[in-house]
Amino acid sequence: MQRIWRRLTGDYQLAIITSVGFLGLVALTPFAIYRLSHADWLVGAVDIFLILSTCTAVAYAWRTGDTLRPGQFLAAFYSTAAVLVAINLGVDGLFWFYVMIVFNFFVVPPLQSTIATLLALAALSGYSLAGQGHPFEDLPQLVSFAITAIITSVFAMIFAARGRVQRRQLHELATIDPLTGIGNRRALETELVRVFAEHTRYGTAYGLLVLDLDHFKRINDTFGHKAGDRVLRDFVSIVDSACRQSDRLFRFGGEEFVLLAPQVDLDGLEQVARNILRTVQAELRNAEGGEVTVSIGGAQALWQADYKSWLHSADECLYQAKHAGRNTIVIDGAGAKRQPTLSDCVQAATP
Ligand code: GH3
Ligand code: MG
Ligand code: MG
Repeated sequence: MQRIWRRLTGDYQLAIITSVGFLGLVALTPFAIYRLSHADWLVGAVDIFLILSTCTAVAYAWRTGDTLRPGQFLAAFYSTAAVLVAINLGVDGLFWFYVMIVFNFFVVPPLQSTIATLLALAALSGYSLAGQGHPFEDLPQLVSFAITAIITSVFAMIFAARGRVQRRQLHELATIDPLTGIGNRRALETELVRVFAEHTRYGTAYGLLVLDLDHFKRINDTFGHKAGDRVLRDFVSIVDSACRQSDRLFRFGGEEFVLLAPQVDLDGLEQVARNILRTVQAELRNAEGGEVTVSIGGAQALWQADYKSWLHSADECLYQAKHAGRNTIVIDGAGAKRQPTLSDCVQAATP
């Protein structure tokens, strides 16, 4: 239950699609029951079809995490339904059109929802102008409807576009470290949960390094906070250039960083750490051109109980590296007689 709530509060699009599914279910089920109990089989079947399609789209979004495709499906589906309802019920059915406009802007990006709305409007106007009568009684009614529908679309579009931009900005503020531009501790935790789940399920090998700059306080004390900030930024670009594109660096806090490396065994992890250690020592400089070094602790996801103990193991190793004199590496399990390989990871994860 807690997981469901967390997903709903953390994923806005999923929450919207779920609410729509729920509302659709509540609104359509009584109609379906009523039609079927009055032996109106065709309309009853259409209602059941609408309910099932909505439920399928919602279930797909929950199972895959993909909210765009079910959103597109529902937008196309409900736009068609709004046109058919208006054609069948006349002016009474037109009210549903406004609901559809707002709904479309919530479930798909603004351009796609504008297209869906305009297509539905064109279909409705075309049907009426072709002399079919429904849903409009005369031309002025059609024009008023088209103008009010377009104005509603413009407002909905502005509102939805603003909402999207603000959500993106909020997400960036919450997950990006402003000084270095890399993911912060919150982003790291989200990623650790994800990769650890992937590791346990599919056996994907993952290594983790905790990197802490040595005597960083001295840099601040000697050259000032701004010079310290510059060293932190330089450190991030140096580490970035020293590792693979698939490796991801996060700022854990202060002068401490975490590197997540996929598809590495113990030897590989040691190599990554050694490479970073060497490159930092060779390239990272303080304001006077003096050497700045880093200490590194590392651990594999393999045989860890959860992501917290994985992070803790790497942190313990970092502590040992500091005690061993700094500018050094300690990797969990690297001293063992037989070192685990990639095939061990797959075996350990296979039930
Ligand atoms: P050790 O080798 O044991 O890691 O020593 P250290 O001096 O690096 O570690 P310590 O924890 O004593 O000091 C870390 C310093 O990092 C203290 C803090 O002021 C500084 N710091 C934390 N965040 C920032 C930041 O964003 N910018 C700057 N310039 N300094 C920061
Ligand atoms: Mg330090
Ligand atoms: Mg530290």
